[in-house]
Amino acid sequence: MAKPTMLESSSHSASDARFASIERYSSVARTVEILSDAWGFLVLRECFFGVRRFEQFQSILQVPRTTLVERLKKFTTLGILKKQLPSTGGARHEYCFTEQGRDLYATMVALLAFGDRWLAGGAQPPLKLIHKACKCDCTPRVVCSHCHAGVDPRSVHYRDGPGAGGEERIAERKRSRRNSDVSVLERIRPCSVARTLQIIGDRWSFLVIREFFYGVRRFDEFQSRLGIATNILSDRLQRLVEQGIAEKRLYQERPKRYEYRLTEMGRDMYGPMLVMMAWGDKWLSGGKAPLKLRHRECDHDFHALVVCDKCGAELDPREMSYLLRYALPVELDVG
Ligand SMILES: [Zn+2]
Ligand SMILES: [Zn+2]
Repeated sequence: MAKPTMLESSSHSASDARFASIERYSSVARTVEILSDAWGFLVLRECFFGVRRFEQFQSILQVPRTTLVERLKKFTTLGILKKQLPSTGGARHEYCFTEQGRDLYATMVALLAFGDRWLAGGAQPPLKLIHKACKCDCTPRVVCSHCHAGVDPRSVHYRDGPGAGGEERIAERKRSRRNSDVSVLERIRPCSVARTLQIIGDRWSFLVIREFFYGVRRFDEFQSRLGIATNILSDRLQRLVEQGIAEKRLYQERPKRYEYRLTEMGRDMYGPMLVMMAWGDKWLSGGKAPLKLRHRECDHDFHALVVCDKCGAELDPREMSYLLRYALPVELDVG
């Protein structure tokens, strides 16, 4: 029986020896790399809540001055934030989203919807989204940009895009981030996005989840594709099982052999992954997407869109308001 694979691509066969030393270009990985810096993520999140001035960021996040300076500089260099004088007048600079930065909103709300669904621990989600356009409570939904139907792993066909390829794997030590401490992620606010990032913000966990979407199930195959040390791989698989993302199944009795599969929760990570890919393709790939997606149901190339589940319109941060189900520990003075 042919093993059903979630993704199909002739160029990504597991026997491909390149995977031992080459890391595929991936728009999802590029996006995750930006968001999984804990302090950086917090800065962007507060910006979506309307925080604009240096002092405001500092007082709400209680972040060391140098760390904040560094993150704001990084985001302005990346073209995500811009520094400008307020349009309403005043001499103090503000940090605002560029179009590229505002576009990250789809990623934020896709991660939020995942966290609300799976990581709220039975409690109500910390934040209620209200779509001003339709005046409804809104649950973000990931859909195909062409036909606006939902997308799941089995309905998507993959092929290499113009930016396909890879680079030599960089030693882990070189890419270790200065601050990957996930414990700061839930600072100030209980947050479903932060909870989701606590899972995928770990680089290896993220890569393992991505391989699941390529149909990888078995230990040796993960290992050969990722070039990962066996102890790290067992640790991450174990962790993903504990987190409810994957499950371990016996597929052979004698000798006993196991494989891993995504749970329903794990498969639900697909939407956020596609949304992060869309952002990385649009803003970080220089117009050359590493991977092209085709939606089988409408038979068109597509990217992921995040829409309001009530009215179907694409979500824009300027058309949203929020109801917090928690108290902020500090007074937030934003307009
Ligand atoms: Zn479609
Ligand atoms: Zn709506």
